[in-house]
Amino acid sequence: MLPTRGYATNGPSSRLEPFNFERRDPGPHDVLIEILYCGICHSDIHQARDEWGGSIFPMVPGHEIVGRVARVGPQVNRFMVGELAGVGCFVDSCRRCASCKAGLEQYCEGHVVWTYNGTEPDEKTPTYGGYSSYIVVDEHYTLKISPKLPLANVAPLLCAGITTYSPLRHFQVGGGQRVGVVGLGGLGHMAVKLAASMGAEVTVLSTSKTKAPDARRLGAHDFVVSVDPKNLEALANRFDLIFDTVSAPHDLNACLNLLRRDGVMVLVGAPAKPIEVQAFSLILKRRRLAGSVIGGIHETQEMLDYCAEHNIASDVEVIPIQQVNEAYERTIKGEVRYRFVIDLNSLK
Ligand code: NAP
Ligand code: ZN
Ligand code: ZN
Repeated sequence: MLPTRGYATNGPSSRLEPFNFERRDPGPHDVLIEILYCGICHSDIHQARDEWGGSIFPMVPGHEIVGRVARVGPQVNRFMVGELAGVGCFVDSCRRCASCKAGLEQYCEGHVVWTYNGTEPDEKTPTYGGYSSYIVVDEHYTLKISPKLPLANVAPLLCAGITTYSPLRHFQVGGGQRVGVVGLGGLGHMAVKLAASMGAEVTVLSTSKTKAPDARRLGAHDFVVSVDPKNLEALANRFDLIFDTVSAPHDLNACLNLLRRDGVMVLVGAPAKPIEVQAFSLILKRRRLAGSVIGGIHETQEMLDYCAEHNIASDVEVIPIQQVNEAYERTIKGEVRYRFVIDLNSLK
């Protein structure tokens, strides 16, 4: 077993604190990764505070992981010691179901091994995430990271990047289409960069008017303050696709009405409480409300390669792990520009 340092929370109202635990010895197909950077996703906060229910404590959050391979099992052939490696939201899945066979492991119909707040294939041993010094992952669930982009800025691609890239591909967004992005946070700013890079005309709908200059710098063509209903009325029937990235309760219908006929709103934000949908927001214009969760291993690699080729990475504020609790508070207030990333060197 490998002694590992990390930060964990012991319950929904506890702070994250130093926590020592053990990783398994790398098996034949495993890589041992020394973690260099880990992003702070709003999902970490939802789960650390048990907002979705069913959280497992103690919890070491973190699923936007970038590091360097420190050791490989004897049958590993995709990674060598010293190479960069990435880990996203899951580290294994059943490998047998139709979704796994289709490369859509995130929709596995069997047991998905979430990177943290989950259980290993034995369905008993808890998993611990990336707010830690090392992680051991099967090479088939480990991503290749190009050395081209700054690593701290690449880490958020492992969740925020793939969560926005996957629906853009699935719904075939391209040149000439109008995309709305609701909420300019970690997911939102990646949605803007990626959609703009694919030729879409992007409008940001935000509650924070101070983010307007950033939205334009990130590639948006337009910025609208969503708290004023008059601003939204002017955009009725406009968008081909809307990303809803909001982490808190909000009015879905106001956004649905901005879709053109046959337009799609993709819910990626995951507020804990149910949200009301007015039937007429959908039926009168044959609109669709869809959900989407992260992406499979193959598509995550495709996204990482796409970002390296197009020079796309996250805008980040790098922090030592000792500031993680304050970073959570600032993320909840919508203050982060646009992702906190932990430098794990601070654990040493
Ligand atoms: P984030 O960085 O905190 O961004 C969320 C943004 O939503 C904020 O920056 C803010 O943008 C807006 N917002 C916050 N509270 C609001 C409110 N009460 N009303 C209206 N707008 C509000 O969070 P994130 O990491 O991007 O994650 C966003 C959500 O996606 C979370 O619920 C997370 O769990 C979920 N998520 C889902 C997936 C998936 O696979 N589907 C993956 C990762 C995360 P403005 O200041 O611009 O208004
Ligand atoms: Zn995430
Ligand atoms: Zn499966």
